[in-house]
Amino acid sequence: MNEINPSGWRPALGAGSVPREIETFTGNRALQLEEALLFEIGAADRSGVDFDDVPDFDLSALGPNARKAAPDLPGLSEPETVRHYTRLSRQNYAIDLGVFPLGSCTMKHNPRLDEKVARMPGFADVHPLQPVQTVQGALSAINELAVWLVKLTGMHGVAMTPKAGAHGELCGLLCIRAALEAKGDPREVILVPESAHGTNPATAAFAGYRVENIPATADGRVDVAALTARLGPDVAGVMITNPNTCGLFERDLKVIADAVHAVGGYVYCDGANFNAIVGRVRPGDLGVDAMHINLHKTFSTPHGGGGPGSGPVVLSEALAPFGPLPFTSRQADGSIKLIEEEDAHLEHPQAFGRLCAFHGQMGMYTRALAYILSHGADGLRQVSGDAVLNANYVLRSLDDVLDAPFGPAGHCMHEALFSDDGFADGFSTLDLAKGLIDEGYHPMTVYFPLVVHGAMLIEPTETESKAGLDQFIGAMRSLAERAVAGDEMLKSAPHLAPRRRLDETLAARKPKLVYKDA
Ligand SMILES: *Cc1c(COP(=O)(O)O)cnc(C)c1O
Repeated sequence: MNEINPSGWRPALGAGSVPREIETFTGNRALQLEEALLFEIGAADRSGVDFDDVPDFDLSALGPNARKAAPDLPGLSEPETVRHYTRLSRQNYAIDLGVFPLGSCTMKHNPRLDEKVARMPGFADVHPLQPVQTVQGALSAINELAVWLVKLTGMHGVAMTPKAGAHGELCGLLCIRAALEAKGDPREVILVPESAHGTNPATAAFAGYRVENIPATADGRVDVAALTARLGPDVAGVMITNPNTCGLFERDLKVIADAVHAVGGYVYCDGANFNAIVGRVRPGDLGVDAMHINLHKTFSTPHGGGGPGSGPVVLSEALAPFGPLPFTSRQADGSIKLIEEEDAHLEHPQAFGRLCAFHGQMGMYTRALAYILSHGADGLRQVSGDAVLNANYVLRSLDDVLDAPFGPAGHCMHEALFSDDGFADGFSTLDLAKGLIDEGYHPMTVYFPLVVHGAMLIEPTETESKAGLDQFIGAMRSLAERAVAGDEMLKSAPHLAPRRRLDETLAARKPKLVYKDA
């Protein structure tokens, strides 16, 4: 076996002895198989099942609905089908394969215990239209999770139904809108810092507000002076992410909240990064009125590829009366009631309405509750501590080869931010990110946040070991050195992936979504 190198990782056997550009007849490279479409490998005369002889069927009985020509569907045998999908799955990167450094996204290991709990029939096989007496256990689990979320955040209530962070933002802003309208004081403007996640301004606009940007200071935080200068009777609220998307704690959030409240506005906190402070900071103590928690980022649960997620919104005493229906309520006899429209006039008359057909994402609730209960309050405190420790380890291990714009000023929270400052002429963050694919990793988040030139945002999360981080850091160091030295090979990376560098603009603007036989 090859020696472990000084970065603590072992180069592949024979690395360097084989030319990188091997084109073969099949297009396959080593164990990476080039995969054709089902339509290309299938044929009409093949099938994975044997049908009994079909009795004569009078097609005229179907009238005008009868098909005029056979459907052009590819027939495949069972092994062909299984191999097709298994090969495709091997072209994907997953948290179960290695470090998944995406910043902001919090891709962390999902304990298998949580998966087991989510699959218990009493949770997995219930139907949202079942009578509530028959799903008391499931409702009780939702209620218990709600109690934990309120306690951990120091807030007053929680809207459990939103199905993702962005959906939670909408929920929070609709609560703010309802609260202001109830006072007869509808306002127009939501202030959003420059470093905000794109969903924040999008949500505010979707909720009918005009969005105004607040600049950042040189140390990567909200410019408090600029923000307070803009406050006035037209400002419905602010949306602030804490810790923010530069991976820094917004130390002045309480000051900001007091100023916003003084002019009659509300404070929305984007709580997607709650995993960095859970067990240590209670947003309720900082004057927050509404904050979504991405269960799928903070309390495990798988995500990516479109979901499913869950974004409960914790609410202050001022906003809780406006939260959406339905929600669970424990009754004096211990049973759980689902408060719906028919109860609302008595129990929750100011609800702004409802966001979801039913009660939300059961599979995410059960995973998150299992995660919380298996860690306990002390364990959650350690989760945030380890997440921050790991990010600082990455920051300090790379800040001699990569520019860390806010690094010299101190520690980061749960994610390490670098810029492309110092790369050779013509070399960019994209080149380094594509090079990371050749090293066997999913790229980090790139070009976000926008306040840093050529941003690279790395969030290792608490579930990585030191050995795993050292291996990742070794790959990053070598790529950073190549970008600074101007290694031309990096410009055409990835070389070892099933696909080369794609035209990302064309892929996004003119995707080919329909297969056409040439
Ligand atoms: C992930 C994220 C969101 C959006 O959450 P979704 O669950 O993807 O809708 C919003 N803000 C920040 C800071 C995030 O990291």
